[in-house]
Amino acid sequence: MEQEYYVCTGCALLCDDIEIEVADGKISRVNNACLKGVARLKECEKPAECRVDGNNVSMDEAIKEAAGILKNADNPLIFGMGNSTSGAQKKAIGIAKKLNAYIDDTSSFCQGPVIEAILGNRIKTCTLEEVKDYGDVTVYWGADPSNSHPRHLSKYTYFPRGKERQRGWEEDRTAICIDVRKSDTAIICADKFYQIPPQADEELIDALIAALSGKVPKVSFGMGPKKILELANLLKKAKFGTICVGLGLIYSLPDVEPLVRLMEKLNEVSNFHLIPMVGQFNMRGFDHNLHEETGYINRAKFGENGVEHGPQCSVVELLRTKSVDAALVIGSDPMSSLPGSIAKELSGIPVITIDPCVTMTSAKAKVSIASATTGSDSGGTAIRMDGVEVDIKPMINTNNLSDEEILSRIMEAL
Ligand code: SF4
Repeated sequence: MEQEYYVCTGCALLCDDIEIEVADGKISRVNNACLKGVARLKECEKPAECRVDGNNVSMDEAIKEAAGILKNADNPLIFGMGNSTSGAQKKAIGIAKKLNAYIDDTSSFCQGPVIEAILGNRIKTCTLEEVKDYGDVTVYWGADPSNSHPRHLSKYTYFPRGKERQRGWEEDRTAICIDVRKSDTAIICADKFYQIPPQADEELIDALIAALSGKVPKVSFGMGPKKILELANLLKKAKFGTICVGLGLIYSLPDVEPLVRLMEKLNEVSNFHLIPMVGQFNMRGFDHNLHEETGYINRAKFGENGVEHGPQCSVVELLRTKSVDAALVIGSDPMSSLPGSIAKELSGIPVITIDPCVTMTSAKAKVSIASATTGSDSGGTAIRMDGVEVDIKPMINTNNLSDEEILSRIMEAL
């Protein structure tokens, strides 16, 4: 019998070579995935149940209660969706439109500016397959894929053979790591690890631009001109270079402009692409889908006079300023991912969660709706971290409804 392969939804690398074994209708073994992927695809430690005010209810009752809360809210917020298929995200956008609601996702406080610059053609990008076939220099900047995306180096950037990279990492690939600490990825990069102090990323970017422009680079921390020139030369000589941007870099920059400046300079003297190291498997998909609908990737509010957009519509500002009176949280756990002072505001409003597992947010929610896990129990499409659309087919049959089906039912009940 021909082997069937599935897609892992453990991170936005969406590895498509996953083999499974099934026993008693459950996934008993996952092959080829990393530990992170196995954890996502096997049953949750604590599967969610449909609950209202902490009491178990049927799916119908939970959906009715959720629709009632959303209908009665003056300023509802829809948030999350990075772990939902594109079909579910489009349904959530439809609900936001119908309710004149705010809609935002985790890109609002992570990779959003980079994805916006890519969608606006301000930053050159490429696919991971192109990196595999042609990439000779890969820079991990503020990223530690050995822990966040464990198969990134082995599948695409450093270890595999590709069309023009037949000798792999031993001879024709270079991996560089720029970070504030010696991460597991930095250890793999060995003498190509450039350690910088926290918040020094923009300074190093400007020093690199100076070096690439033939000037003597200078920084205020302990990295001499020789070391910076050595790095600039590696970048300059690349035939096909890629910068893989992690949150360590994003959080240290005031905005995306220093990165745009660096990419422009690199492409005057070399050939460089940028790929954001997106975490949740379809966060990039949400940005693409909202962009298609509104022209914005996140931080939006639908209204009678069109779409409002700006920092005031971000999940953090909305909660800080107590501007929303209900929240629908889909496949996300803001209680654990937002700063405590902001997350606590969620306790003051009715929260509805849609999630396959119990999370800190769903444990405290007024309504929690148990969904199927996309990847193992339900399928659809998603956008990989490099912008490529991937088809996901379910691995097993369950009675759990997918996010998309639950959101369709909420829409009908509104
Ligand atoms: S790297 Fe990401 S997509 Fe690939 S197997 Fe691991 S968790 Fe899954």
